[in-house]
Amino acid sequence: MRNEDSSVNKIVVIGGGAAGLMAAYAALNHGAQVTVLEHTDKPGTKLLLTGNGSCNFTNSEMLPEHYSGDRSFIESVLSMFGYEDTLGLFEGLGVQHTEKRYRFSDARYIYPLSGEAASIRNALLYGIERLNGRVVTGVNTESISVNDKHSLSEPDTAGRSSLSCFAADDDGVSEAAAEQSYVKGKCLRRFSIFTDKGTFEADELIIAAGSNAAPETGSDSSVYPLIRQLGHGFKTFTPALCALHSADCALALLKGIRHDCTVTLEAEDAGSFTQRGEVQFNSNNISGIPVMNFSRYAAALKNGCRLTLTVDFLPDLSFDETVGMIKRCAVLSGESGRNFEDMLKLSLPSGLAKVVCKAVIGEAKAGTFTAGFSEELSDGVYLPVKSRGAANETCARIAALLKGMRFSINGSAKFSRAQTCAGGVPTDEIDKESMESKLCKGLYFAGELIDVDGDCGGYNLQWAWSTGFIAGSSAAG
Ligand SMILES: Cc1cc2nc3c(=O)[nH]c(=O)nc-3n(C[C@H](O)[C@H](O)[C@H](O)COP(=O)(O)OP(=O)(O)OC[C@H]3O[C@@H](n4cnc5c(N)ncnc54)[C@H](O)[C@@H]3O)c2cc1C
Repeated sequence: MRNEDSSVNKIVVIGGGAAGLMAAYAALNHGAQVTVLEHTDKPGTKLLLTGNGSCNFTNSEMLPEHYSGDRSFIESVLSMFGYEDTLGLFEGLGVQHTEKRYRFSDARYIYPLSGEAASIRNALLYGIERLNGRVVTGVNTESISVNDKHSLSEPDTAGRSSLSCFAADDDGVSEAAAEQSYVKGKCLRRFSIFTDKGTFEADELIIAAGSNAAPETGSDSSVYPLIRQLGHGFKTFTPALCALHSADCALALLKGIRHDCTVTLEAEDAGSFTQRGEVQFNSNNISGIPVMNFSRYAAALKNGCRLTLTVDFLPDLSFDETVGMIKRCAVLSGESGRNFEDMLKLSLPSGLAKVVCKAVIGEAKAGTFTAGFSEELSDGVYLPVKSRGAANETCARIAALLKGMRFSINGSAKFSRAQTCAGGVPTDEIDKESMESKLCKGLYFAGELIDVDGDCGGYNLQWAWSTGFIAGSSAAG
């Protein structure tokens, strides 16, 4: 058992993920005594999954536009602890980094040089250990009580306070010993955190328990009754950074395709958003970074809003250039006597060529369109064309499909397949410069449980680092 020093600021952090570990490290650096309470057996489990195990932990293009939520809150947080602060802090902990660049972006995506997410997690754990911080695992918080007369209360004549708070022993396991130390007139801490491993006492409490994304990592919403108990509301979580679902039958043929595309999401209530990048097609969903970045808007489906995703498969070609490309395929098909679809497959992914050919044939059969091809084979279409005019019309129709294939979105992936969540503790209940609750003094929030979510690309971890650092430093104050 360590010596209790009533003059030392005692901080408890609930949640040993990215934000909680950063908050603990920052608070320790400011001289506080810190205990992290993590309810799973290991801290930082989600961190190990990030970036497919290689942890894209920040991004050089650290702009508020990459986040959804209260703009002035986000700007304040990023200006107080941003990209360069993150690099500097991890370098100080011994982590070198490397950068990756992707097409269509000037941003640099930052990873640990080791290529292993464990480097980031371990650097924080080693830092916490070096500064004598404690990480207690497998501990479940049952309730929290707040003592408004924090540090001011003196024991009454019987040597006891009228407040129903326990002073926990330093290992957080013996209420009796704790109460005894309190009776001796030691400082009364502001928070008592009652757990299945005893009562922990703290002057300041930081809650950094994540959201509901990837609940198997421990980020499972279990903390929300406690947050409510402390007087806070929270916006219901919905999965974000996940695939969008569609029942469109074209997906069966597109399944397996990964292609550079521009995608536009039209959300009835929220507006229209466009991004470019690699898009992945699966039998009942569409994913890839640009699509995942839109997934936060799928929540609107519950309110009956319509969501449509339009995919431009050839973003580097204009419409006329696309028509020209298809006409050349038609001509070559006619000259060689080969199936037109086979010729298209020389320029397009096979599944995509099949989809557009099937679509024009289907439209022709339905009478909504005059296909310019003379004969349909079982596996596609056949040239020569019936007439030049009809062929032109067909090529333009195929180009329109390639430049703007529309998918009706009917849902998004579940929490277990999401990288983050939209929703959480409302930012108007949190002071943007300290992360302290505006409703409960001494209570701080950090990380994903705050109602802000970022794009793919290191933005969510940066949010965890920024809010964790600010909360830890402010709490240690
Ligand atoms: C597969 C995957 C890949 C990702 N890749 C990236 C990436 O490359 N770059 C990026 O920026 N972001 C990425 N993210 C998102 C990023 O991991 C999160 O935004 C970040 O981990 C959030 O940090 P946090 O500390 O707020 O929450 P978490 O990391 O979820 O940590 C919360 C911690 O609190 C604990 N906890 C929960 N409830 C309680 C309780 N009641 N008592 C005690 N402890 C509790 C949990 O067990 C957990 O350890 C990815 C996410 C996933 C799922």
